[in-house]
Amino acid sequence: MLKAREAVLSTPSYHPPLAGRVGLRLDFNENTDSCSPRVLRRLQRVGSQDLAKYPEREPVEEITADFLKVKRNEVLLTNGVDEAIHLLCQTYLDPGDEAIIVVPTYSMYAIYTKAAGGELIRVRAAEDFSFPLTAVMKAVTSRTRLIALANPNNPTGSVVSNDEMLALAHAAPQAALLVDEAYFEFYGTTILERRREAANVFVARTFSKAYGMAGLRLGVLIGDGEQMRVLRGVSSPYNVNALALACLPEALADQSYVAEYVAEVLEGRQRLEHALEERGVQFWPSRGNFVLMRAGHSKMDAALFSEQMRNEGILVRDRSADEGCEGCVRITIGRREHVTRLLQTLALDQLAGTQGAWRR
Ligand code: PMP
Repeated sequence: MLKAREAVLSTPSYHPPLAGRVGLRLDFNENTDSCSPRVLRRLQRVGSQDLAKYPEREPVEEITADFLKVKRNEVLLTNGVDEAIHLLCQTYLDPGDEAIIVVPTYSMYAIYTKAAGGELIRVRAAEDFSFPLTAVMKAVTSRTRLIALANPNNPTGSVVSNDEMLALAHAAPQAALLVDEAYFEFYGTTILERRREAANVFVARTFSKAYGMAGLRLGVLIGDGEQMRVLRGVSSPYNVNALALACLPEALADQSYVAEYVAEVLEGRQRLEHALEERGVQFWPSRGNFVLMRAGHSKMDAALFSEQMRNEGILVRDRSADEGCEGCVRITIGRREHVTRLLQTLALDQLAGTQGAWRR
């Protein structure tokens, strides 16, 4: 009988709650509004020839490399950052090799590691979710072949310094160090310019968040030219579809759209954090477009809170199942009016008498 590989069968599946997402989308850290109007105009000009032909990635890769100020052979466009993570696992993990992640973090590092037959080493973040450099250093062995860090981290919003990441990269030269900068635009700090200090550092960026193009599935991986040649060799030459490739130059050219959206998000994050502080609700200061807050002390509290918000037409993400996040929900920050609606609804909840459950 046909049977999948053991590593695949034992990989926990990840089913993001995508069904029935009706309401204000504060649950997936997407742009809560839209992409640049220039992207939409380009999409409207797509013709039958664009669809009939296989997509050509290289010219758009050149534009992206120039935009990022890196060499052209250092860049690979991917089907979202998810594909970049997948490719790194496929390229560097033999069965039994170790991949280190710092939990809680983004789920796909664990899934692609397991599916490749890798051994997952989960290092717990500190109580306040700060980066546990000493513990991560201690977890490095000769079998460590991948270290995946989200910076800023999802769902905590915490960050790691470039010096710490480079120290780690030097301590584990046999491992690929992925710095997942999916939320870079909201943080503003990157390791990109210092990446060449260690040949094993990879940087990933996405167009799913600030750029508002999650549906197009577009990410970029940057790394040492020689390593990227190998990764390119195992990726599909058509991994990024023609519509995404047509739109990317327009998205990159409209930096004022991104800057204006990011400014609104940063202001909104401050408004939410201030409101939570005033009401004595525990939260973790975030450098991303989201805030993790405590809705209570049990899974039930977080589920109830999320349900109440859904009834008010606002979708938030229950993160209770994540390590150290019992009773917590993650709320995406979006446009000014979306934050206003969120704050009004949070106040309504309080009036409804739920504050007892989510007080510190
Ligand atoms: N990395 C992190 C840290 C994320 O939070 C997410 C999305 N939730 C992704 C990667 C996935 O990005 P993409 O849509 O580009 O696959």
